[in-house]
Order: sequence, then structure tokens, then C-alpha cells
Amino acid sequence: MSLWRVAVPVPLRRSFVYEIPAALGVPLRGARALVPFGRRRLTGYLLGAAEAGEADGLAVRPALALLDETPALPEDLVDLLTAAADYYLHPLGEVLRAALPPGIDPKSARDDFKARIGRPQETVATALPGAAERVAEIARRAPKRAAVLERIAAHGTVRAADLRGVADGLTAHLKRLAADGLVALSARDRPPDPFVGAAVERDLPPVLTGDQAKAVAAISLRLEERRYGGFLLQGVTGSGKTEVYLRVIERALDRGLGALVLVPEITLTPQLVRRYRARFGEGLAVWHSGLTDRERFDQWRLLRSGEVRVAIGVRSAVFAPVHDLAVIVVDEEHDGSFKQERGFPYHARDLALLRAARANAVAILGSATPSLEAHDNARSGKLTRLVLAHRATSLPLPRVEVVDLRYHRAGPGGQRVVSGPLHAALHETLARGEQAILFLNRRGFAPSLTCAACGQVRRCDDCAVSLTLHKRPAGLVCHYCGARHPPPDRCPACGGAELKPVGVGTEKAEEILHALFPDARVARLDRDVASGRGAEEVLDKLRTGEIDVLVGTQMVTKGHDFPRVTLVGVLLADVGLHMPDFRAAERTFQLLTQVAGRAGRSELGGRALIQTYSPDHPAIVAARTHDFEGFAALELKSRAELGYPPFGRLLALRLSGPDGGRVESAARELCRALGDARRRSGTRGAAIDILGPAPAPIAMVQGRHRWRVLLRGKRRDELRRLVLGASDVVESPPNGVRIRIDVDPVSML
Ligand code: ADP
Ligand code: ZN
Repeated sequence: MSLWRVAVPVPLRRSFVYEIPAALGVPLRGARALVPFGRRRLTGYLLGAAEAGEADGLAVRPALALLDETPALPEDLVDLLTAAADYYLHPLGEVLRAALPPGIDPKSARDDFKARIGRPQETVATALPGAAERVAEIARRAPKRAAVLERIAAHGTVRAADLRGVADGLTAHLKRLAADGLVALSARDRPPDPFVGAAVERDLPPVLTGDQAKAVAAISLRLEERRYGGFLLQGVTGSGKTEVYLRVIERALDRGLGALVLVPEITLTPQLVRRYRARFGEGLAVWHSGLTDRERFDQWRLLRSGEVRVAIGVRSAVFAPVHDLAVIVVDEEHDGSFKQERGFPYHARDLALLRAARANAVAILGSATPSLEAHDNARSGKLTRLVLAHRATSLPLPRVEVVDLRYHRAGPGGQRVVSGPLHAALHETLARGEQAILFLNRRGFAPSLTCAACGQVRRCDDCAVSLTLHKRPAGLVCHYCGARHPPPDRCPACGGAELKPVGVGTEKAEEILHALFPDARVARLDRDVASGRGAEEVLDKLRTGEIDVLVGTQMVTKGHDFPRVTLVGVLLADVGLHMPDFRAAERTFQLLTQVAGRAGRSELGGRALIQTYSPDHPAIVAARTHDFEGFAALELKSRAELGYPPFGRLLALRLSGPDGGRVESAARELCRALGDARRRSGTRGAAIDILGPAPAPIAMVQGRHRWRVLLRGKRRDELRRLVLGASDVVESPPNGVRIRIDVDPVSML
């Protein structure tokens, strides 16, 4: 009898033994099997033959089917993911599933993925006459459905895929809206994916600058030895980091080896993919969240079969089954989007390093503003630092000036958002026929609506945050759960009739700019006007000169060269600065550097104006002087004092549930159990701080109350051991309470 250990995607940190009847075929490590689990059928992953005696006394059930002849997961990935499951204390079955393209698992033994996914079609929703007028009324009963309708009405026709972020249970909302005669649903052939799209002309590689050539040589040396090497490629914005990646990857391909490029979600644009395609032609798989299950499966299969040897993708592409992997690039390695927060919480940058080390590959972490973790690893020699100190085009970095809003209150428009100096700079820029990008990290019209009489601020019923006022379409919106209410005429608390929008979001900024510069073509870019492919359209208009001033959120800070953009304005640099998060300063510095880097990409030159109430804050001073080293030195000092990363390690235990009292008492119980475990572990545990329990800074989201316990210590394995020492409590929380383990947490909210 053939007995195998199988990982099953359930929230249990153990594997199960199944019999694989000979009639099913030859079992192989990494292959998928359909297995009975309780009364369910699940797709499990074969880990290896069970040891003699492992199944003694257990009722071993037979698997129902083997799903792969070639294992879905190659051996090296099974090894990597097993190590990752240990590192993150996460159930292996869930980890393995996260590494495969979604939708690959069959619903039954006879289900065929290809048949199930069908021809590439997409659903589109079209607003019928009168739909827009019904939004407010529906919002009273069903705010989420109203939000869906509103989005459709605003665009006329929308792909259902583009509505995914608007509300949960989208299909049900759409069906209901169709049944009510408000929208029409239709299927159409999907246009080709812009990422996969038309043939691209090959480009001629430029002559490398001296710094670039040195970096390529240093990395190639390791590559040729087929030995692990970790590199931090620290290059100012526009220094030609991408060219370095391309050259190293070319060398790998010349030797028949494979490569993987990870980029943040918002930098993975058709523009960027075109650059890679211009070098590698068709031999490139692309991996991003905008793909349908079918497309992702196709890209995955190209890699798994070895037909294609290079992959570019977002976070989850770190699991791409690239053959003979020899190069892993993590571009903009400091970017927060490499951290997965839901489900299996991993950090793609850290897994990239782990994967490279196991595969004897080179890892290149690239950034203009390295994370302090990477910076510290370069100081200690774990990573080799390679510096590109100048822009590849030998143009200077933009001049950065700070506008102290405490003195420069209002510009000529009487508005603080556009101070006198910024107004003048915009005026000059437009007069020269050049373009400007204005950045404000806050969408909507105003961050809150306050009653002038009683001071009450409208808050979300389900989340502990205030509601953001949006104007077009009008509504009070929760940016956490998406709930949407019609804007009230009167204060619900005191009946006062004067409700004042407080603060400025991108929508209001756009309105103000229209008023100040009526002849300029002003456009806005944020998640409310464009998602995914829509963003690229707006950026294309900036490129072709159909837009003079673009105002927006983080979406405007990335993207490629816009030669006629000579002015960048940061409307309020303080937005993220005072968040209850020890990385707030670091993130602000990175963001400001990134957005300033959009200016001055051509001989026209460029400048950046940063408006702030905190001109002396180290993050702002460093952004002004392009001084990464200075910022890092100062910030590291305070991290060292507090024992925060990169000096100490953190592990967060996040508790949540609908009943606040139960969550709180579970958090207290957890702390007690951790305290006991620490005592039992003697001196080793003594160096660990148990911080909390405390309500999370955002104490409720979607009706779930949130508490947190933070472990802080010198060594990560000791933190993990402490959690395992309290596993009775961690793994079986009381009914209605969930406990999630987050090793190396990024979000502190
Ligand atoms: P980064 O990724 O560091 O921001 P990019 O790789 O996007 O920089 O390069 C910035 C610009 O410089 C691009 O337009 C690129 O084509 C150009 N560039 C890169 N390397 C060279 C080079 N060696 N000679 C001339 N131009 C270059
Ligand atoms: Zn909410």
C-alpha cells in the first residue's frame, strides 16, 4: 500500500496521511491529489512517502484522484514553501495553494480546468436610463449595491472585472441590479491583454555608464559561478537600474538559465512590460492581479513547461515556477506592496532572498531609497551594495524646495493647498507650455464632514474611522470597508444644518486647480477615476501632452519618463508623517523622493516643491537634499533605541472578531499564555518583550474588533519559539475570535 503525507489547505499546521491506490497512477512529490477531508473533497499536495509507522492507528482514507502527471509544484518550490511555512508559522497546505495560480484546483475528480474556464470572455455592465438617479435611494437600503451602480453609471459601460474592488458579493449585486432594470449585463470576447499585446520592436541596448558596467560585472561574476549572491543596487531615480537588470538577465538567458523580476503592483504597467519585451521578445511571462484566472494559468504553464524562462510580476510571482532560476530581481524593494497581508502573510522580498539562496541564484534588490532592512544588510555585508550615483542621462536630480505652510498660508486663490510659491511655479510652468504633477496622498473631496454646531464627525458604523466626503458621485464613503452613505443635509447628532467639509482630498484639489487655472487642462488620477488599465490611459495622456496638470494619489508617483514634466508639487507632505507606525518617516521619505524623481527627466530641467507644516522633520529635510545616507543614519539611531527592525525583530499576533469583549479577553488570555511560555523558557525568553494586549490603532474594520499583541526581541527564531510554546492558545482561540500570526509585520494599523 502506498501511503503519502499530504498537505491540505486548511488552517491546521500539520499534514495528513492518505493512501494512493495504484490505479490512480504514479504519485510524485509536488503533485496534487483530490482527497476526502471530513465530508469535503479538497485538493491536497503530495509531500513525500509516509514513514513506516506514521499512519499506525489512524484510519487512512484513499485519495480520489491524482491531478498531475508532471507535479504542479517543482521540487525546489516544495522545499522553499516548506521552509516558508515554518518561517511564517503558517499552515503548509495554505502556503502551497497560495503558490499556484488561482482557479487551478478542480471542483471534482472529473473537472477539467480548461473546460471550466472556457473561452476568454468578459462580462460588461451597462447603465440603463435613469440608473444614476436611483443611486441615493438604493444607498439607504443597500449601500454596497449603490456603490456598484454608481460606478457603472459614472462610466456608462464597465467590465465586471473592474468593479471587483467596489464591493464584496459583486455577482449578486450585479444580478440584482439587472433584475431591477437598472443595468444590462452582457458577455463579449475579451480584448487581448495589453500586457501580452502586440509585437514589440526590439531595442538597441545603450552603452552602459561606468557605474552600470561595474554593477553588471560584479553581479555577473557570481552568476557565472552559479553561486548565491545578494546585491543591493542603490541608484537614484533615473539612474538606469532597469538597464542593469536587463543586462544580467540577458547573461542568464545566454547560458540557458531563467530569471524572475518582481515589481510593485503600481509600477507593473504596459510601458514597463514593453521595455522587457523589447529585449526578450516573446520569451516573457507576465504575472499581475488584473489577469483572469485563465490568463494567469496560461502564463504559469508557459513557465512550468520551460517554454518561457523569464517572468515579470507582482508579489505572488515570487512563486513562479521558473526553470533553472539564476536571477531574481526585486525592483523598488522598499515598496510596501511586497508584503502580503491577507491569507498567508509573507514578504516577497524576503522570500526572494531565501529562494535565491536555495537556488544558487543572484538576487538584486533595487531602490533609490532602500528599506532600512536592506540598508542594514548591506552595512553588515549580507548584501553587496552597488551604487549608481547619477542619472544615466547625466542630467541633474531636480532641485527640491520646501514651502513652509506655517508662513505661506494661502496663495492668491485664498487656498492653502496651492500656496503662493506653488501657484507662481505652476503659472510659470504652464506659461512655458510644460507640465506639472501634483501629489496628495488622500483621495475623495474632504477627509471628514464636521458639524459646525456640535463638532460631531460622521464615522463608519463598521470601522473605527471617519467617513470621507466624495462629491462626484456624492457620498460619505468608508475607505476601509467601502460602505457608502448619501451625504446628510443635517447633523444626525444635533440636527445642525451647517456641515463643513474639513481638509482636502484629490477631488477638491482638482476643483481648486480648475478654478485657479481655468485655461489649463487639469486631470486627476486616483482609484476613484481609474483602476488598473484606466490609470495607464491617464498617464498616456500626460505623455502625449493632452494633460497639463495631473493631480493624484500615489498612482502619480510611479511610471516612467515624462520629459515635459518640469514641476512636481507635493500638496501636503504631512499626510502620512504622523501615523502611529514606526515606519511613517521612512515611508514619507521614500514617497517624497519617488515623486520628486518624476521631475527633470529631460534637458528642460525640473524642480519639486514640497508643501508642509513640518519643514524640519528629518524625512523632509532628507528628501530636500536627496540625502538617503543622512536619513538612514538618523532613523537607524531611533530604531536602535526602540529595538525596532532592523535591530530587533517583531512578530504580531492579530486577534479579531465581531464581539469586542470576547476579542479583548482572548487577547488577555493570549498574553498570559505567552508570559507563561516565556517564564518556562528561562533566560532565552527573558529577552523578549510582550507588548500589549492593545486595541489596534484602527480598532474595528468591517464590524470586526481588532486587538494586537506584539512580540519584540533580538532573534526571530526565539519569537517563533515563544509562539509555539503558547500554541494551545494560539491555535484554538475561543469561538468567534480569530488569531493571525504575522512574522515581520509591515502594517502597524
Ligand atoms: P531607474 O530604473 O534607475 O529609475 P531607468 O532604468 O528607468 O532608471 O533609466 C532612466 C532612463 O535612462 C531611461 O530612459 C533609460 O532608457 C535611460 N538609460 C538607462 N541607462 C542608460 C545608458 N547607459 N545610457 C543612456 N540612457 C540610459
Ligand atoms: Zn467601514
